[in-house]
Amino acid sequence: MAMRCKRCRGTAVMEVRRHNAAFCRDCFLHYVGQQVTRAIAKYRMAGHTDRVLVAVSGGKDSLALWDLLLELGYQADGLYLSLGIGAYSERSKAVCQEFAEARGATLLVHDLAGEHGYTIPEAAGKGGRSSCGVCGLSKRYVFNRAALDGGYDVVCTGHNLDDEAAVLFGNTLRWDTAAMARQFPVLEATRPGLVKKVKPLYRVAERETAAYCVLKGIDYVVEECPLVAGNTQMRHKETLNQMEEAAPGTKHSFLFGYLDRAAALLKVADDADLTECARCGMTTQAPEDPASEAVCAFCRSKARLVKTLPIVEVASR
Ligand code: SF4
Ligand SMILES: [Zn+2]
Ligand SMILES: [Zn+2]
Repeated sequence: MAMRCKRCRGTAVMEVRRHNAAFCRDCFLHYVGQQVTRAIAKYRMAGHTDRVLVAVSGGKDSLALWDLLLELGYQADGLYLSLGIGAYSERSKAVCQEFAEARGATLLVHDLAGEHGYTIPEAAGKGGRSSCGVCGLSKRYVFNRAALDGGYDVVCTGHNLDDEAAVLFGNTLRWDTAAMARQFPVLEATRPGLVKKVKPLYRVAERETAAYCVLKGIDYVVEECPLVAGNTQMRHKETLNQMEEAAPGTKHSFLFGYLDRAAALLKVADDADLTECARCGMTTQAPEDPASEAVCAFCRSKARLVKTLPIVEVASR
């Protein structure tokens, strides 16, 4: 017997087991849009007059997110950061550019090598960080700075339910409460120099963003980043997938149970003493020793890379 759509009783094309539901094409797209609308409303992520910047990688999550935000009537521009990971980066950039062109949307393109003098493969393992470590740090830095320079109100990233559950799993295994506080679906701009960051897809599972792209005919990069091997988050995802298989809804209740209790569990520390980085001027943690210079994590990482890579200082602003 064919599955029936929970909303219109038509023939279903997609099952969402954790909600005991199945949907036809149109009702599934409606369901995903509703999850994003709910996420945005619950955490006051963005308003229709806000200028929104979506960090796009060319993968299914970020392109589905950009598409959803445009469909929902947000003023959403895209931001692509080229990481210099060979053919993978070239293809990712092309996919983002095609997406933007087809919709007449604006895509900002930044380039790590051109702006900061290194690519992720060059930086991997040097300066004390793994490729994903230096990549994450570089992305956070460039996204924040690009949003500030462009006068955007909020940066959206495509983290989905699976990503957030895996990160929470890792943070919980280490009881890293500071990291747990930072992984909230919304991080307000608590200081000048910081842009508000939000994750409107935290209620949508990975297979749902993939289905969304397929059903909407969005071309995305299916291959994983070639540097992902050994990434701990991937291992945690696999573990959670096994648990989800045995008990649908595990990830959902793990993540949502945390979010519901988080405010009470964590004293979300906002008292951090922030100041300006002496090198680049971006907001950073003030050093313990008042006599020493405040240098942000990005500039410190870059300084370590300079020792191992032939980085030429690219025109600073
Ligand atoms: S897998 Fe690691 S190196 Fe590749 S894009 Fe993701 S964070 Fe960057
Ligand atoms: Zn339907
Ligand atoms: Zn800095």
